[in-house]
Amino acid sequence: MSDIEAPQWSVQTAETWIKALLPEPVIRSELPGDVVLLQAGDPGQVVVRLKPAALRIGVFSQRWWRDRGVLVDETLIAVPWVRLPSSLVHAQAVVRPLIEAATALRRSRYFHCEVCQQQRPPELQVATSTGKRTCQTCWAEQ
Ligand SMILES: [Zn+2]
Repeated sequence: MSDIEAPQWSVQTAETWIKALLPEPVIRSELPGDVVLLQAGDPGQVVVRLKPAALRIGVFSQRWWRDRGVLVDETLIAVPWVRLPSSLVHAQAVVRPLIEAATALRRSRYFHCEVCQQQRPPELQVATSTGKRTCQTCWAEQ
């Protein structure tokens, strides 16, 4: 893509390069209102919503509701498409650190499981009667 052409960013023109900046795997879904939702990482790290007027970058977060994990992404920042630089290289230079910030914020919330000694996402933490911090996997095995 030539920098001289000055593309007008939109859901259609930006999805591919934004996807390439995200941690894998990326789960794509379409939401009402012409919104494309990209959930990235396993366990989830970053949530990007490509909306008709803006790009929204958020931290992956999950809450339990009736035995199911429900996505409750927290918006870190919303950038209107018109505010992104028209050159691809410069647009990537703006978006990349935002994705990295969301990833870092998510990882800072991980806890240390005292049984398997792994770093686990906060939604998998179980408070045991003994006061030990364990993950659901270890808790289920005991
Ligand atoms: Zn564990």
